[in-house]
Amino acid sequence: VAGRIASPLEKLAGMVRNEGSEASFDSVPAWYYEADSLKEAVQYHRHAVAARMAALSDEAMSDPLTGLCNRRGFTLLADRNRDDATQCVIAIDIDHFKKINDWYGHEAGDAVLVSLAGLLRQTCRAGDVVSRFGGEEFIVLLPRTSVEDAARTAERIRELVRSTTFPYVGVMTVSAGVAALADSAGDRDTMLRRADEALYQAKSAGRNAVIVAGPGSV
Ligand code: GH3
Ligand code: MG
Ligand code: MG
Repeated sequence: VAGRIASPLEKLAGMVRNEGSEASFDSVPAWYYEADSLKEAVQYHRHAVAARMAALSDEAMSDPLTGLCNRRGFTLLADRNRDDATQCVIAIDIDHFKKINDWYGHEAGDAVLVSLAGLLRQTCRAGDVVSRFGGEEFIVLLPRTSVEDAARTAERIRELVRSTTFPYVGVMTVSAGVAALADSAGDRDTMLRRADEALYQAKSAGRNAVIVAGPGSV
């Protein structure tokens, strides 16, 4: 009898010890009330921990202000597209954002960021990775997209922003740089850097503009 009483407790102890194991609770012979109650509690706790872990992982991957991917989330999702040779990125930066903060306050700046994030989410396709890399710079990864199509998407975003009425500020504009992985020696970091350089050129060209990084510029 002592052995039969101890058996479910030992099994449960083993399962708690091997947290990662997929051992089924069905195998625990909880034949008396107290063991069954303990089994239920352990089962509940395991689910609660799994849910909390999933939430923490989501939080670590996303930008709290806009809910978009942060840099870490971008990297994770971009890794899933690592075998796609025809991807492009668009680097987008709000023009004169500092003035928005200075004139209308930080709260207005935040509202504009949230609003632009929503607009980008609406404009992009389901597989696109829309992210905020900090500050007022957004990066969109476009899987299975030619550089011409990426340029058209960037232009559509630029035009949509220009014709949208934003909270507090009304009108504002963005500049964008586009780069293709195929023109970046197949290296994602090079593609991001080239998109950033093209964005910088768009700023120099007077802002509210899209520049595509040429195949020769690495
Ligand atoms: P440019 O047209 O050349 O891009 O000029 P800019 O003013 O947009 O760029 P700059 O890099 O000089 O300024 C960016 C500003 O963004 C400065 C910083 O205070 C502000 N900023 C960064 N992160 C946040 C944020 O989370 N919320 C708000 N409200 N402002 C932010
Ligand atoms: Mg800016
Ligand atoms: Mg900036």
